[in-house]
Amino acid sequence: MDSVLHTRGRIGPRILLITTAALPLTGWAIHAVALHKQLAATRRDPLTGLLRRDTYTARARRLLARHGDTATVVMVDADKFKAINDGLGHAVGDTVLAAFGTRLTAWAGPRATVGRLGGDEFALVLDLPADRRVQRLEQLVRMLHTPIVLDDGRVVDVAASVGAATPASVGSRDLSVLQRAADAALYDGKHTGRPVLATAEHAAVPSLNGRRAGRPGTAVWGRAA
Ligand code: GH3
Ligand code: MG
Repeated sequence: MDSVLHTRGRIGPRILLITTAALPLTGWAIHAVALHKQLAATRRDPLTGLLRRDTYTARARRLLARHGDTATVVMVDADKFKAINDGLGHAVGDTVLAAFGTRLTAWAGPRATVGRLGGDEFALVLDLPADRRVQRLEQLVRMLHTPIVLDDGRVVDVAASVGAATPASVGSRDLSVLQRAADAALYDGKHTGRPVLATAEHAAVPSLNGRRAGRPGTAVWGRAA
């Protein structure tokens, strides 16, 4: 009995000490987790869950540096998206954008980086082997062309245009050059249902604040298909 009391007496202050020390640590750990979650949320677009432009750009540059010549930059823009907003409402438009985010993430896989650049425009960087590139890009166009079924059962017809650029096809490893070229290629194939692989001429298309500002009349447009 004595020894029990004695043991209790020795453990008591220790437990108190550990608890006193652990409580603030636990508090800090919870705080750190909450901060981390908040930070992760600010990196993501709340509607689609995709990376916002800045975070996407930083990761895309890292992927390009790592994969070098096998990296592919893909630009995606929803087709006739304004008609969905106008005809079915902004909320349905939001659902379509969110579904596109899910489809792009599934298509690209865990090692890719996928961002929403704004509006109905998305960008991806991923490692695509040259011998499967065309096949994979066509698969992406088909995935994005699959109708979306709303919660109330309505079916929304959707589609998107896809342009791609690689360091080999464009002659540059610079992300902004590759994106500009992929974007010009996308607009070359807009509404055709065909992905277009950019050439060096696509990279020469002038852009204004990151948007298309026109196309050269003499360019030879390369096709992935
Ligand atoms: P195109 O086929 O040539 O790509 O034309 P489009 O109708 O898809 O129109 P465009 O790409 O030029 O414009 C995209 C529209 O997306 C414009 C804007 O009203 C709408 N939009 C931008 N952000 C959001 C959003 O967060 N939610 C919804 N529902 N619409 C958005
Ligand atoms: Mg569009």
